[in-house]
Formats: sequence, structure tokens, C-alpha cells
Amino acid sequence: MMISPSFAILFAYPIVFVLHFIRRSKHPLFSKVFLISAYTALSIMLLFESVTIFLFKKPICAEVLDAILTTNTTETGEFINTYLSQLSLPLTVFFIALIFALLIQKGIQKYRVSCPIAFIFLIAMAPALESIAANVVQYKKIGKSKGFSVSTFITRLPAAVVALEKESDELAPFKVRSYPDTIQYISKEIQCSNIVVIIGESFSKYHSSLYSYPKVTNPKLGELSQSNLYVYNDVVTLFNYTVGVLKTIYGIISGDGSNKTPPPPFPSILRGAGYKTHLLDQKDYLTQKRYQVIWENMFDSKNETRFPDDMDLINTMDVSKAEPSLYVINLMGQHFAYVNRYPESFARFKKDDYPEVSNNQHAEIIAHYDNATLYNDFVIYSVIQKLLDKEAVVLYFSDHGEEVYDYRNFTGHGTGLLEKSVHSKYQIEIPFMIWVSDLYKENHPDKVEQIKNAVERPYNTGDLVHLIMDISGVKAEGYDPTKSVINDQFDSTHDRIVHRAINYDQRRRDSTR
Ligand SMILES: [Zn+2]
Repeated sequence: MMISPSFAILFAYPIVFVLHFIRRSKHPLFSKVFLISAYTALSIMLLFESVTIFLFKKPICAEVLDAILTTNTTETGEFINTYLSQLSLPLTVFFIALIFALLIQKGIQKYRVSCPIAFIFLIAMAPALESIAANVVQYKKIGKSKGFSVSTFITRLPAAVVALEKESDELAPFKVRSYPDTIQYISKEIQCSNIVVIIGESFSKYHSSLYSYPKVTNPKLGELSQSNLYVYNDVVTLFNYTVGVLKTIYGIISGDGSNKTPPPPFPSILRGAGYKTHLLDQKDYLTQKRYQVIWENMFDSKNETRFPDDMDLINTMDVSKAEPSLYVINLMGQHFAYVNRYPESFARFKKDDYPEVSNNQHAEIIAHYDNATLYNDFVIYSVIQKLLDKEAVVLYFSDHGEEVYDYRNFTGHGTGLLEKSVHSKYQIEIPFMIWVSDLYKENHPDKVEQIKNAVERPYNTGDLVHLIMDISGVKAEGYDPTKSVINDQFDSTHDRIVHRAINYDQRRRDSTR
């Protein structure tokens, strides 16, 4: 997909060609304005796409635009800082293309169209010809073209905006589905008075001692796993970036990759059956005014401010209420920049603890990540401490995984999943665990037995709603026991489809063959 630079040249060419004629016109001001704006627009677009290809391994598309638009300013700052050191490549590409464009212009001015320029133009045309050929082949095969909208960055941007608009249309029916009064119930019998769903952030299984990472990054949860905490070993997320994951968790889009209408969102289901529902959120997903009604449908209360530290958010959590309660907690977790995700007192791991990592800077960043995980361990433990004397179940999982220089020179997530499955596991396979209180154990020994026996089953967080219906006892339209990991009817043979297209289980089977 690295065709962006050559397309820059391709588009530079007609622009300078037009400029050439305009410059000779009798309107020097107009031509100057055109010159400056055309070059600026071209340059910005080129730089932008070089960056998205470099960071997300994807050209401009709805997914990338969505991820960028829903990122808040603090995250953007950290994002830029994290990748600044890696930006040299796209910047170089950008400047090379700029020089090419200037050379082309000079060539036209001086020699009309010179031979080398024509040659460059032909080379630049190659990807376009490839795109045309691919379209022809596809058309012959299935009678439909692949669509030229994705062939250049100038057409990709409007195509992405249109796709994003279409996506916001998904939210119209979801608004209706999230309204508790419209939900059809099968059962409203409440079986657990406190349910806590903690959605972690960028927490990698491969840096957790709960999953045999050699550094003790999860000491407190590790202790709990000897008694009331059940650690699941084979859970995947359906997307490797937050927004996609949240959409499947809340049921905005279907968790199984199909276009079927998902069940209503779990907070609305529980709320309509008598739970009080509370959102403690650090992520700011769908914060625009027009989406406010969605949150009002799902939650009785929602924090108004974000906190620099997850612990400050947890400290606002009030569990003293008598009525059945659902708490959904969205953490900052281990999101980069990792160094900002833990206080000084949790700086246990230092770069010298990683003699196997040859690059000093990498060792330091890995240490930051492991310290952030250590702090996150304390944050989750603190939530659990609040619930010790209650009838309570806590579900904790990460939105997606994270790469921390695990096999290549890269940290982060949200990149394309073109890598072999053996590598995409770092972003797709996630930590997932269920904690139960003593009182819950006493009241529901059968359920606890089911939770305990399910830890090896292949699950995905897109099917979370069915599990929550089983734990709460509240069942609504769309409930499917074969998709609830603890249910005796759970279907372990169902392959998991990630990014709505890739059969993750099939890939994994192929790679171990
Ligand atoms: Zn995330």
C-alpha cells in the first residue's frame, strides 16, 4: 500500500501543468493564490497520508479518520511525542515528493515537457495502471469494480468522509435501541446486586504476570487469582483500536462480523430491569452534544470531568447504594505515553532490568510500560477492595492489546492486521478476568462453578452482552446462551471474525500447521 509518494508526483504533475498556464495569464494575483493554495493542500494531504500509512499501516480511510477525530487533545499530544522519533521516514518521503514537484514545474517552465520528466510521470503512473488493471480483473470476475475512490489520496479523503457519515447513520437506530423502554424482556429477575465492568486500555497479556510474563507486573491480581479471581486464557477483541471495540461492546455494530442487529446495549438492558447504572469514563467516546441522548439512555450517572490519574476516578466511585447497581469503568490504563500512566512510587522496573533488550531507549520504554501495568494492577485491586462485603462480580478486560517492541521496532496498536497471526496476537489477544465476592460465592455456587470451568474457552468481547445477561439474571431480546462464555450451552466451535473480515481462529490454525 506504500503508493502514496508516487501518487503525490502524479498529482503534482497536472497541478503544475495548470499552474504553468495560469502563471502566464494576465492575472498574477489569482495565479499566486492558486499556486500557494494548491501546493499547500497537496503537501498537507501528502504529509497526512504518509503519517497514517506509517503509523496505522493504512491510507486515509474512515477507520483512521474516526480514530483521529475521536482522540482528545491530551492523547494527540502524547501520540505526537511517542511517534516523533519515528516520523523521519514520512517526513523524508514528503520532502522528496515536494522536490519532485518543484523539479517538474521547473522542467515545464524551461523545456515545456522534458524527457526525464515524462519518464518520472510514467513511473508515477504505474500504481494508477495497477489500480485500473485490478479493477478490470475484478469486474470480469464478479461484474463489479473495486472502486476507484480508494486509488488516490485525493479521492480517498472524500470517500472516507462519506463512509464516516454513513457510520454516524448507524447511530440513529442505536439511539432507539438504547432506550430502556423499548426493550423486550425475557426475564427481569436480578441475580447479582453489584456488577462492575472495567474496560482497560492497551493492557497487553504479554506483559502481565497473570499470563506468565516473567516480571511480576500483576502482584495483587496474581494473589487474588489464588481464590476469587478467574483468569481467562483465550479471549480476543474484535478490533485493535478503542472506538471499534466500544462499538461491539455496546452493540452499535454486531460482534460476529455480520450485519445482524445486535441486542440492546447491556447498560440499557440492566437499567430497564431495575439496576442503577453508572459510567466512570476516561475515554470521551461520542462526546458531541448530538450523542448525549445515547448516554442518557444507558446511564443514570456519568462523570463530567476526566482525571489525569485513573485512581482519582476510582476514588469518586460510590458503592454505598442499596439498589442493584451496574458500574462501567473506562480507564486510561496503559495507553501511551506509558511514562505518564503511573506515579513515581510505582517506578519499580528500570531499564537495567532488561539486559536482553539491546536498545537502551527501548528498554526504558518497556520499563515504563511494565510500571504502568503494575500501577493498573493496583487500580483494579482498589476497585475490588470496595466490593469485598457486597454481592458483587467484577469483569475486567482490555479494550485491545498493545505492542511494546515485542517482535519489531514498534510500540502501539491500531495498525493493519496484515501481519501473520502469530504477530497480530499482541494487539488482538487480550487479558480477561472475572472476580467474584465471597457473598456472591455463597449465594451463587453454581454460577461460580460455571465461571471457573470456562477459563479455557475461546471468547470475544463482542459477545459480552450475553455474559452480562447470564450474570445479572436479566435477559432481553437477542439473548443467545451459545454466546455467553460461562453458559453450559456455550458454542466453542464458533470461529472469531476480527475486523469484520479476518477469521482469527482459522489464521491461528494455519500458522501452527
Ligand atoms: Zn484503546
